[in-house]
Amino acid sequence: MANNPAVLEQQLIAWRHELHMHPETAFEEVETSRFISNLLEAAGLDVHRGIGGTGFVANLKVGTGKRVIGMRADMDALNMTEEGEVPWRSQIPGKMHGCGHDGHMIMLLGAALKLAVQPNFDGTIRFVFQPAEEPGTGAKAMMKDGLLEKFPMEEIYSLHNRPVKPFGTINTTSGPIQASEDNFTITIQGKGGHASAPQNTIDPMIVASQVILGLQTIVSRNVNPQSCAVISCTEIHTDGAHNAIPSKAVITGDTRSYSPEVQDLLEKRMREICMNICQAYGAKCDFLYTRVFDPTINWKDQVKKCVAAGVRAAGAENTFDDFEPSTGSEDFGVFLQQIPGCNMFLGTGENEVMSNNTLLHNPRFDFNDKIIMTGVNYWYELAGICLPKA
Ligand SMILES: [Zn+2]
Ligand SMILES: [Zn+2]
Repeated sequence: MANNPAVLEQQLIAWRHELHMHPETAFEEVETSRFISNLLEAAGLDVHRGIGGTGFVANLKVGTGKRVIGMRADMDALNMTEEGEVPWRSQIPGKMHGCGHDGHMIMLLGAALKLAVQPNFDGTIRFVFQPAEEPGTGAKAMMKDGLLEKFPMEEIYSLHNRPVKPFGTINTTSGPIQASEDNFTITIQGKGGHASAPQNTIDPMIVASQVILGLQTIVSRNVNPQSCAVISCTEIHTDGAHNAIPSKAVITGDTRSYSPEVQDLLEKRMREICMNICQAYGAKCDFLYTRVFDPTINWKDQVKKCVAAGVRAAGAENTFDDFEPSTGSEDFGVFLQQIPGCNMFLGTGENEVMSNNTLLHNPRFDFNDKIIMTGVNYWYELAGICLPKA
């Protein structure tokens, strides 16, 4: 089956539809993990399950080469109700593969099956199937379970489908390719009272307003203009009423950046501004800053290998190494903080105007099956480039 591209493609599409019909969300990818790992085991790979919960690693060793690389796919679906009408739409209420991770798994599975019967490399490939990418906790869970100690890898690669890039294109860049995402919650404790007598209160609404404006000076005055950052306050909640000054205001929001240094700066300056503005008004402040996603920072030498594989699989005219970094986040960045590697975006958009393609995380999204074999071939070529035969 894996010897014949047309037969392999039909089989992969059928399996992709199976996965799409049965989406499972973060750390609940039990059947998904079983389905893929059983197929890999049947193909002769050495499978190790239960790494980071539902995550697993499948090893394929060929020849005598000592070198080892990793190829990673994410497995989780979204908590979202599918509105599309494809025959293979989700059969699980409130869950759907809205980010195309079903397609990611299938392309990597297809490549593993092809590499097992037509090996073009010498060494070991570890196929890493990761849970819980969407909440940004799956890669960390696998690390915590000793992924890199038990299964050392010299480099690791990943890809994500991208409907806003032209069909069949390979898109990557050196350095930052996706942003960090941190969340914050600022609780401002004032003193509530009658709306007619503000002199007896400490109005947390006024303090919160000053804090929000103060935070907006960090990107313009503290972050190096050559760097990039976003601070967005997205919610403000109080316990006030129409005629009552609240006692408490809670501001929440999210920040993005492309380097751990900028992340540190944002956290430090945000804390200082919040604490000092609150103190100036006599209010108390509780500042909570949570790091959710690390930035995804591609390594230069691995980008070159990714591009070389792209040229072989998709053609030089379709391979780009100048991708403008996305402010979206991806927990593959966790791997790249430990070992060299590269993330790549596989273009799947077929409309002339890219924004007319159904976007990721849209309730009508469905992974584009026509790209499957390009993805398989990309992974296949990457194996030969990273682990060449002597
Ligand atoms: Zn997603
Ligand atoms: Zn995704």
